[in-house]
Amino acid sequence: MTVLSVQNLKMYYKTSAGEVKAVDGLNFDIGEREVLGIAGESGCGKSSLASTLLKLLPSNAEIKEGKIIVEDADLVSMKDSDVRRNVRWTRIALVPQGAMNALNPVFRVGDQIAEAIMAHSNVSKADARAKTETLLKLVGIDPARGRHYPHEFSGGMKQRAMIAMSLALNPKILIADEPTTALDVIVQAGIIRLLLSVKDEFQTGVILISHDLALVAQMSDKTAIMYAGKFVEYGASKEVYKNPLHPYTLGLLGAFADIRKPKEALTSVPGSPPDLIDPPSGCRFNPRCPYAEEVCRTDEPPLVEAFPGHSVACHFWKEIRAQRSQKT
Ligand code: SF4
Repeated sequence: MTVLSVQNLKMYYKTSAGEVKAVDGLNFDIGEREVLGIAGESGCGKSSLASTLLKLLPSNAEIKEGKIIVEDADLVSMKDSDVRRNVRWTRIALVPQGAMNALNPVFRVGDQIAEAIMAHSNVSKADARAKTETLLKLVGIDPARGRHYPHEFSGGMKQRAMIAMSLALNPKILIADEPTTALDVIVQAGIIRLLLSVKDEFQTGVILISHDLALVAQMSDKTAIMYAGKFVEYGASKEVYKNPLHPYTLGLLGAFADIRKPKEALTSVPGSPPDLIDPPSGCRFNPRCPYAEEVCRTDEPPLVEAFPGHSVACHFWKEIRAQRSQKT
């Protein structure tokens, strides 16, 4: 069952220099217990997408077009006050980037979770406390630790507590924005395992946002590669990771065949992401792409289905694929 449907979503920031096209025409669906991973470099629009889905936007941001449908309701056309009351936490919850620092240092962790429950549902203090204990247990924290303050928690425990808080109202969608940043590798693996187990327990769809494509591909059912506000590749994670079609995906995987080096040499993506106020014409990736031709500078490639369930936005995906398969 589809729990979230995003259709032609565009969100731009107004600045004195012009409009920043941070989210520029995205389409995707997520089903119950499905994980969509979104990967890309910093500044590609991943976190802006997360904020747009919750309508948690600064005053200079505007949703220009599109739909965000959760349980038959379109959040784009809903009043912000209704989204705040009836959507955030209850239908879509966010584990924000830097969640470890999101806990208030002067209140006990358990009290913060119980307060969040009471603020968004009509339950007694005793019930909120009981639910807090259940949630802490679920995320692997001894409920007795709920009486402790955030500074008495490790980084991994704080992140687990934030995940517990985000699940407090049984959301349909959980957005985890860089949930493992600043954690060591073993703790990271525990947090990811936790996210995967709670989505089954709560029948929640998960959007996992990360700059780490390997992590995203490993943990997600579907993977979207985002570049300059757009999806440039989208499909089953196994396919995107094992048979990448877009040059940017190849770059993220460190798999660019550098034409100046022996064919075995692999390099990462050269250059930096474009200015989204005035993105390059044609394919937005063209200034950084080793395969770019003249048409790439004039015509924007549409996202087309290359194989069933696997889409790519590149004029030359067939040629690049053929060239790569000859080399391997
Ligand atoms: Fe590179 Fe052209 Fe494909 Fe864009 S359309 S990724 S510039 S080959």
